[in-house]
Amino acid sequence: MTSTPAPVTYRLQAPLPPAAPVPGCTTCADLAKRRARAAACGDYSRVSDCNIWIGRHDYHQAPIPR
Ligand SMILES: [Zn+2]
Repeated sequence: MTSTPAPVTYRLQAPLPPAAPVPGCTTCADLAKRRARAAACGDYSRVSDCNIWIGRHDYHQAPIPR
């Protein structure tokens, strides 16, 4: 007789809201464009990556005025 494995309980959470790009930051702007392109292609793994990169990159940089 084989035994049935014990049931596993998963704690699921709602996905985080999309990270908001910091206004004026060129890195955020670039990542937001990449995110939009990925969403248009249905690449939601890349969308998730972009959200993480937007939320976690070290320095928000504005373009140097000329
Ligand atoms: Zn930024």
